[in-house]
Amino acid sequence: MTGTVPTSSPRARAEIDLGALRGNVRALRAGLSPGAELMAVVKSDAYGHGMVPCARAALDAGARWLGTATPQEALALRAAGITAPILCWLWTPGDPWRAGVEAGLDMSVSGMWALREVTGAARAAGRTARVQLKADTGLGRNGCQPADWPELVAAARAAEAEGTVRVTGLWSHLARADEPGHPSVDAQLDVFHEMVAYAEKAGIEPEVRHIANSPATLTLPESHFDLVRTGIAVFGISPGPELGTSRELGLRPVMTLAASVALVKRVPEGHGVSYGHRYRTAADTTLGLIPLGYADGVPRHASGRGPVLVGGAVRRVAGRVAMDQFVVDLGTGPEADAVHEGAPAVLFGPGDHGEPTAADWAEAADTIAYEIVTRIGARVPRVYVNADADADRETAGGDAYVDGDTDRDAYGHGHGDLGEDGRGDAR
Ligand SMILES: *Cc1c(COP(=O)(O)O)cnc(C)c1O
Repeated sequence: MTGTVPTSSPRARAEIDLGALRGNVRALRAGLSPGAELMAVVKSDAYGHGMVPCARAALDAGARWLGTATPQEALALRAAGITAPILCWLWTPGDPWRAGVEAGLDMSVSGMWALREVTGAARAAGRTARVQLKADTGLGRNGCQPADWPELVAAARAAEAEGTVRVTGLWSHLARADEPGHPSVDAQLDVFHEMVAYAEKAGIEPEVRHIANSPATLTLPESHFDLVRTGIAVFGISPGPELGTSRELGLRPVMTLAASVALVKRVPEGHGVSYGHRYRTAADTTLGLIPLGYADGVPRHASGRGPVLVGGAVRRVAGRVAMDQFVVDLGTGPEADAVHEGAPAVLFGPGDHGEPTAADWAEAADTIAYEIVTRIGARVPRVYVNADADADRETAGGDAYVDGDTDRDAYGHGHGDLGEDGRGDAR
């Protein structure tokens, strides 16, 4: 026992509902154009949800591909024993190109330098590399410009003839898919059709052509082609308020971020709260200390605004979010009196217990919900619930596992001192 440090803690947890994730994948697949398959994008630790468990759950629910940004992410999936096709799109000189070829990754190539790297790696490995050519159809970020496409396509064809490369995909990415009807979307689709036609005329026979991210998957069937690359929607979060709420889109948020109240105390009227005293109590009141801060990913920019469900009501962060903690003003009513140290505080979740959502935090922090979930730090343990895909056919899931032990869910269920509705108002 000596030397072991407990990894789970009652302080805070991000509960990850893999049953919800599987349900989202099924719902998204049901809406695809005929012939299209689904890639679950699990970059950046599955948007903060935990890469390997989420990748497995997505595959269980029918995702055929996985997508990552960095090769390290893709190689970690292979190291975990995942054999599904993986597209990896953010390569840099010096990256593990040869390991990528040997792991059978689909490696995205946006320019001549990358094609040279991949053909060199394929020769060294003595294996044909799987390559997907990325077109910049107007995003202006990664991808090959139309003017440079003929050179890249010709070089890829030459590498195919030599046996070092097989071009498995042609693909692109949209700039404004979250603004349905924006003319740039149709313009990008037109350019994509042209660039695909050019490559196919040159003899490339891709397994997959793809351009759709989550917003395009949800709103634009003509963008589905052979494959859609869905990230945020797999995690149950709407790509943006313009597209509707998760519920309106038939999705269920996967992550619930909760903490245990660390201190409850009475303070007099006019008391300053947290760094800079940006909040002052308007009357004698009760403060609750929430042991999560910007080091855990709670945005400091949501100081004074971020919503938290505690003691049966949604409160706002009082004053500044600090590195490890922030404060809420519980007031003086009976609901405040019911809050005690150890009571659950839920920052966001699916929303069906009255708790805020990641979308609410995005609004409070003037950002997007993608950033809210992705930034939740490594100090917050991920607790996986409903991990067993077979449980989807039963009425109640309920298996939980974590990197350590756990005896209650995000609402405190399992602790004897909490009420049935889990809001800690049993006393
Ligand atoms: C992140 C990413 C996606 C997924 O986008 P969502 O909006 O989360 O679905 C798809 N394609 C590329 C290239 C990406 O970088």
